[in-house]
Amino acid sequence: MRKMQQIELESNGTVVQVGGGVLQRLLTQTLYEKGKQAVTGLCECTSIIGPLLGGGHSVLQGFYGYAADNLVSARVVLANGEAVATSATEHPDLFWALRGAGHNFGIVTSFRIKTYDLPRATWTIVSMVYTQDRLEDFIDALNDVDNEGDHVPELVLAGAITRIAAFDTVHPIVAYQLSYLGTADEVEPYTARFRQAGPISVTTAENVAYNDYYIATSNGYNQTTCQKDKNISGYAISLPRYNKTAVRTTFNYFSDLTLDARYITSVWLLESYGSRGVRTQDYGATAIPPAERNLPVLTVPITWWAGDSAEAREKAEKYGKLMRASLAAGEHETTESSHVYLNYAMGGESLEQVYGVKPLSKLRALKHRYDPTNKFRFYMPLE
Ligand SMILES: Cc1cc2nc3c(=O)[nH]c(=O)nc-3n(C[C@H](O)[C@H](O)[C@H](O)COP(=O)(O)OP(=O)(O)OC[C@H]3O[C@@H](n4cnc5c(N)ncnc54)[C@H](O)[C@@H]3O)c2cc1C
Repeated sequence: MRKMQQIELESNGTVVQVGGGVLQRLLTQTLYEKGKQAVTGLCECTSIIGPLLGGGHSVLQGFYGYAADNLVSARVVLANGEAVATSATEHPDLFWALRGAGHNFGIVTSFRIKTYDLPRATWTIVSMVYTQDRLEDFIDALNDVDNEGDHVPELVLAGAITRIAAFDTVHPIVAYQLSYLGTADEVEPYTARFRQAGPISVTTAENVAYNDYYIATSNGYNQTTCQKDKNISGYAISLPRYNKTAVRTTFNYFSDLTLDARYITSVWLLESYGSRGVRTQDYGATAIPPAERNLPVLTVPITWWAGDSAEAREKAEKYGKLMRASLAAGEHETTESSHVYLNYAMGGESLEQVYGVKPLSKLRALKHRYDPTNKFRFYMPLE
């Protein structure tokens, strides 16, 4: 797909046409030059369409919903080789399925997504580090500020638990970032709450332009997050909020695993990009399961390791399962708590967990119609 690189802003400036192989960096930079932005994933190295077909979490989701909510139309090559146009009025059932389970239905050769004027404001990024003795205080602050996803769209919360020897040579630490579309003064009320939790380091980057945002948050094309060819496993779960006891249990597993030097670069992601924009969308208009919109916390212990042995993979997977189980056990009061974001799934999850019970039955019927011989089954296949 990588040769399908066209990007054309339409004359009214509210929609851009994108080729099926365009990566995030190219679209972000091209639109920025024209004073525009679009809802994309965070990392410069993923495609635009890959994340979108499974939903598409974004720093702009608090304003505009998921990437999939911003799809206007798509041209799709079906399993029988036919190329069809899909939109709210052309093959609307396929258009529904594309937005949430799209990789099961065809190859998107080009698509159109909404664009928005770049705001005048720039980003402020506050980076904080906590040692493990402050873990519970940090989680309290995070739950308070996140407010189950119901916070201003200008605020984006993301970070990780990982090992950084400069801060702690014995335990993992929490490295967390508040991004705010606005000034340091405007983000201060939120920063103040996190300061109460006792970080050992706070640094602030101001006036970060949108086209520099992804490098400033270490999600740039040439940065660690985008490195390829690593052994990787990740056991994600979506939650309404963090449970302190569950986080501590999970932290102990993560700490234990990463004491083994092979796993030392592993990261446990703690993401809450904001839910207001995703909850104001029509829940029935896309195949994205309701739990994806209702559960604001997206968390995934990602294990990276050196060496290719089966034993190393088994150990990573064993710990991954333990960590996900302990996070899930902390939230038994909600029936949606075993939901896993499709784009973060490993393959061992049930289809109900990733696609949702109600969307799944409709998706299966559409699959029989559009891909009866199950040609598209590379990732979390419906069949
Ligand atoms: C470094 C990194 C950062 C990430 N950041 C985010 C993020 O910010 N937000 C988020 O929601 N998710 C994120 N993810 C998860 C991401 O959504 C999935 O990994 C996604 O599948 C990546 O898509 P891709 O096209 O880049 O990769 P690929 O592995 O090439 O494709 C992924 C899937 O989409 C299918 N696909 C790709 N292109 C097409 C097409 N044109 N037509 C039909 N099917 C197609 C592929 O067949 C495959 O099933 C991230 C993943 C990584 C590795």
